[in-house]
Amino acid sequence: MRPTGKLHLGHLVGALQNWTHLQDVYDCFYFVADWHALTSHYADTGEIVGNALDNVADWIGAGLDPERSVFFVQSLVPEHAELYLLLQMVTPIPWLERVPTYKEQIEQLREKELNTYGFLGYPLLQSADILVYRADFVPVGEDQKPHVELTREIARRFNNFYGNVLTEPDVKLTRTPKLPGTDGRKMSKSYGNTIGLAEDEASVRGKLKTMMTDPARKRRTDPGDPAKCPVFDLHKVFSTEKTRAWASEGCRTAGIGCIECKSALADHLVSHLEPIAKRRHEYERRPDDVRDIFVAGAGRAGEVAESTMADVREAVKLPPMGSL
Ligand code: SF4
Repeated sequence: MRPTGKLHLGHLVGALQNWTHLQDVYDCFYFVADWHALTSHYADTGEIVGNALDNVADWIGAGLDPERSVFFVQSLVPEHAELYLLLQMVTPIPWLERVPTYKEQIEQLREKELNTYGFLGYPLLQSADILVYRADFVPVGEDQKPHVELTREIARRFNNFYGNVLTEPDVKLTRTPKLPGTDGRKMSKSYGNTIGLAEDEASVRGKLKTMMTDPARKRRTDPGDPAKCPVFDLHKVFSTEKTRAWASEGCRTAGIGCIECKSALADHLVSHLEPIAKRRHEYERRPDDVRDIFVAGAGRAGEVAESTMADVREAVKLPPMGSL
């Protein structure tokens, strides 16, 4: 996860809930990708460490357990950079230029100068992040599949030159529910339409009050269609079946108003966020503990990464670390 700001409901539903589930089944490595943040935020790096600590407090709030999963900050495990460098030697530039998100992001983030070597290389850095742990699976959504496919191609090409040293990862596809922001578009920091994980109740309720609804309901007496309402998409994720049935029926028949409907959603959302905020605050009060988690995690991650790199160096016929 890139530490570029505070986490919101989109992160919870799109990643953290799934990560929490996966830690019961697999040996998981989760990291704050500070070098990845630099690929687009290189001109303003002052907030990266603060964001990393803040994000991990949210991870723990959402139920991730540093005892069961490995948490770390990418730049504390320099083997990522070493493998990235070696992968650069064998990666044809057109493979990176054709990554779908590359052109898309340059287009979306026009205010930044992203015509850089670092930004072109970010999918390759992701490949190094995966391959350095010989990962079996990468949990991603549909839109990230091409990145894992690129990683597989690069591993094959590398192995072709140097022997069977890197493991081709598989995709662990996560289907995430639609999560619109307050303006009806996808919830995203760049649209300014998010509801934050650490927001207080008054702020959550206030944002829901002004959230966009089915435009057909101009007046209280106009019936609406929940399928056309972003508020109902949030009901699907956070409300009980009983509330959803009540909202759906009341919307179609104009039996309830949008204010009532949103207020019921707010009750569910607030009670969903409450335990997250509670766990988060426990850690927020102890920032040193979060730092310790990162350092201990970097040690555990570094052992695995170093073992891969020892094999990679040998395969490429480079000297082992610290000798010649
Ligand atoms: S009643 Fe609820 S689902 Fe229907 S338009 Fe209003 S907010 Fe949306």
